[in-house]
Amino acid sequence: MLHNEFMELPFYLMFYLIVFFYGICIGSFLNVVIFRLPKNESLIKRSSHCMTCGTKIRARDNIPVLSWMLLKGKCRSCGEPISKRYPIVESLNCIIYLITVTVLDFSLQSILYCFFFSALLCIAFIDWDTMEMDLRLLLFIAVLAVPDLVLSVLALTVPELFQNLPHFVTDQSLSLSSHLIGLLCIALPFFLIGEISIPIIEKKFGERFRAIELGDTVLMACGGLLIGWKAVLVSAFFGIIIAGVCGMILKKRGGESKFAFGPYLAMGLFLGTLYGNQLFDWYIAWVTYDPYTMLA
Ligand SMILES: [Zn+2]
Repeated sequence: MLHNEFMELPFYLMFYLIVFFYGICIGSFLNVVIFRLPKNESLIKRSSHCMTCGTKIRARDNIPVLSWMLLKGKCRSCGEPISKRYPIVESLNCIIYLITVTVLDFSLQSILYCFFFSALLCIAFIDWDTMEMDLRLLLFIAVLAVPDLVLSVLALTVPELFQNLPHFVTDQSLSLSSHLIGLLCIALPFFLIGEISIPIIEKKFGERFRAIELGDTVLMACGGLLIGWKAVLVSAFFGIIIAGVCGMILKKRGGESKFAFGPYLAMGLFLGTLYGNQLFDWYIAWVTYDPYTMLA
């Protein structure tokens, strides 16, 4: 954990500079994931090339964000515009990493959560583009849950060993029950709502689809397993509210009634992971607050 009062300013700046650098470089890789994963192309094989003329992009033109700005968003050889999405994804990922280490401090959990948010960023953009959720990205989130699952089992079975582990590892570790309830507490209702909605939707629209797709359900299962039940409850709450507001705006602009839920759930999961546990405890303290017992 970072204890600000003990930290020297140069060290502090250096730390944020490293996080900034990692955020922007991994963001650059996320562009490749968002573009190639839905097409089942290799993520490492071919080097980057212009989407219009196919010219290989040279190393000096491939610096995240900076190159795009220097080239004024245009390809060096054919002059056709390069999508704004590239620098946007890179900067977003970088900002997300900086926010995460600021809110959650530097721990094993915050590193895992950074990877989680990067996966969410890819899921959001791919779902927005294709209305589909990539199973490999969902699996990646489930794998991120493994280190803390192992830690939570250690805490139960050999507590002496767990207590002797460094603070960096144990500080934000969740209990095994928190992970397991997190796996089901949103995914199960989402699954049931989906099941019940199929005949209702078929009757009304003559089409067979779920009100909540299986992809969204698996996303909340994997996310819940990683961040625990309190955080995933708050995440679902935020996700549904954001989706409701954005859905109304999109509908007013003449969009379809069926729209990708993934981007909004991803935003909800981001907020829920950072603030869910505090918000949940704060809410419980508020609803159970009884002024009369305080007076007595
Ligand atoms: Zn070109």
